[in-house]
Formats: sequence, structure tokens, C-alpha cells
Amino acid sequence: MEVDRSMVRRGILFVISGPSGVGKGTIKEALLKKFPDIKLSISATTRSRREGEIDGRDYFFLSKQEFNSKLQNNEFLEYASVYSNMYGTPKQYVIDNIITGNDVLLEIDIQGAQKVKGQMPEGVFIFIQPPSIEVLAERINVRGKDSPESIQTRMAASQEEMAMVVHYDYVIMNDKLDEALNKVEAIITAERCRVKNNIKR
Ligand code: 5GP
Repeated sequence: MEVDRSMVRRGILFVISGPSGVGKGTIKEALLKKFPDIKLSISATTRSRREGEIDGRDYFFLSKQEFNSKLQNNEFLEYASVYSNMYGTPKQYVIDNIITGNDVLLEIDIQGAQKVKGQMPEGVFIFIQPPSIEVLAERINVRGKDSPESIQTRMAASQEEMAMVVHYDYVIMNDKLDEALNKVEAIITAERCRVKNNIKR
């Protein structure tokens, strides 16, 4: 892609992360409606498609072989094994959009966010926190999308994951969805007003 970089502000990378079941997905959906110009990075995964999910919209659903071949070709900005499935963020999409001045949203797990921070520390890292571990357990149960074994694994991981909050720029407790959403929107708006994010280079 040929771009005159001297005339373009660089896009901002927003990373929404937090324990599984905390409501990141719902927040992401609402943000995309509120900020239709933000580009969502669609992840690749080896997990099987849930009912209602569409390939290329929710995820790129890949076989293990396909995922590994992309991994070998260095096509992921980060990848992680989350509860025995592989998930990865396609690198080129993120980089192309940042360079052309589009803001990009990633909704990824905590290990993945750490890896992205290592490579793109200028990103804006937002940690979504549950009101408590008990509430998180209840939400994962109610969601009903996960097997009992998967729920067990997710809960065990959550305790450790919560401590990772110290590596983030912002923390938002998702107790009442509307309030949490207002806060994420305020962060996005404020970041977009920062002088350093408006310099054309
Ligand atoms: P689910 O299978 O429920 O859609 O997602 C499981 C977890 O994987 C969630 O915490 C979600 O944020 C995370 N996830 C989704 N895409 C990616 C990705 O590209 N990279 C990483 N590291 N985690 C991801």
C-alpha cells in the first residue's frame, strides 16, 4: 500500500483485554457501533465455530494446520493458546491501518495483550475487570456457551490473570455495562484528542 506518510496521523491501537467472561465481547460490539470508523481486528482461531458465528466476521476459523502455516510465515502480531485453542491477531491488517491513520481495536486475552505491548508499547491498553471472581463465575455459567471443563479452566486462570492489571494503562470495572461503556468511550475520545495522536507524520 503506497501512502504519503508525511500527511497522515498514525492510527491508535486500542487493546481491550481482561479475563474470559468479563464482558469484553459485549463492550467491543457496543464500541464498534459508537465509533464506526474504528477498525476491528478479526482474529484467527482453531476453536470450532459456535452457533450463530460467521467465518470472517467473528473469527477466521482455521484448522490447526492452517493456523500453524500462518504462524510459520510470521503472519501474527501475537498468538496465544487460550484454553487449548490457538488464537492469533493477523499482523498486516493492524499495521496497514495504523500506518494509514485508522484506529484499530483488538479484543484479546491477557497473554496476547502482553505480547502486543512488547511490540507496540504506544498502544492503549484497557483492562476490563469483573466486580469479583464470584460474579465472573456466574457470568460464564449463565453464558452457557462453555463446557463444564472449560469453565473450570477459565476460572482457575482468572485469579492469576487479575494480577496482570498493573501492566495496563486503564482499568475499568464492568459492574454495570452502561457505566463501563461510558468509561471506555471516554478513554477513546480522550486518546483521540491527545496532541501526540494528532501529529501528521
Ligand atoms: P472465545 O473463544 O470465547 O471467543 O474467546 C476466548 C478468549 O480468547 C477471549 O478472552 C478472547 O478475548 C480471546 N481472544 C480472541 N481473539 C484473540 C486473539 O487474536 N489473540 C489472543 N491472544 N486472544 C484472543
